[in-house]
Amino acid sequence: MLPRNYALPRVRRLYHRRLHCAVIFSLLKQHRRKRLRRRPFPKEWLAFIQRHVGFFRRLSASDRAELLGHVQIFLAEKRFEGCGGFTITDEVRVTVAAQACLLLLHRKTDYFPELLTILVYPLTYMVEEKRQVGEHFWEEGTVSRLGETGRRMGSLVLSWDAVKYGAADPSDGKNVVLHEFTHQLDFENHAADGMPSLATREQQLAWAAVMRSEFASLRAADESGIPTLLDTYGARNPAEFFAVSVEAFFERPCALRARHPKLYEQLRNYFQQDPVEYSAETIDR
Ligand SMILES: [Zn+2]
Repeated sequence: MLPRNYALPRVRRLYHRRLHCAVIFSLLKQHRRKRLRRRPFPKEWLAFIQRHVGFFRRLSASDRAELLGHVQIFLAEKRFEGCGGFTITDEVRVTVAAQACLLLLHRKTDYFPELLTILVYPLTYMVEEKRQVGEHFWEEGTVSRLGETGRRMGSLVLSWDAVKYGAADPSDGKNVVLHEFTHQLDFENHAADGMPSLATREQQLAWAAVMRSEFASLRAADESGIPTLLDTYGARNPAEFFAVSVEAFFERPCALRARHPKLYEQLRNYFQQDPVEYSAETIDR
């Protein structure tokens, strides 16, 4: 064992060296991102967004510019891989990125830091799943999926068909990209509990109280067969509840604000956005 008067300064030196490296790394990252954000946005990429992403033209000019800057960084930092014989093109990358980056507007962001790779299948894909159907019973079978992600996966899976379908109609309440990337936001505080990273204890308590009550209401409605605005897939657990709430927040904001005002308020505070102002749903108000 080293004498205390020798060990402590050495530990401190190592700690300071690591801290110094982390600060330099962070500054370099910020500098690289600033440069990427300012790069001219390729015309063909913009054409893909205009063709596929329904909400884009409804955003304000400053939000559109901010979104395109985020897309440049997102595409420089994330890797895409095709699955099931699918070929990744710029059309695929840009259409996914534009929707995912809607979740980042107006907020300080580290661009889904837990996520490295996005895997894309051409169509709905099949996976083996084991599901609990009773206290002591499990059922095994093949299920179809539109997308998925997990806290320790470092990847996110999407079906290109579902990505296009979700992007084309910005007010049907269904968007697989918003759903799966919301799970990534949930993971930012190192848990998959339906609560993203919130700055203060007060915000966490307010979020938890509203989500607990809204989640219980959705479960009760699902069990009794009452029609709901929120997708009852969200009744599975708090993480899925957060994901389906975000789909409704961006795609059915008027209905969500009217029927679940406290939930809408929590999401508006977190996302620093008011989708009522630009949603296609506002036409039918
Ligand atoms: Zn989910």
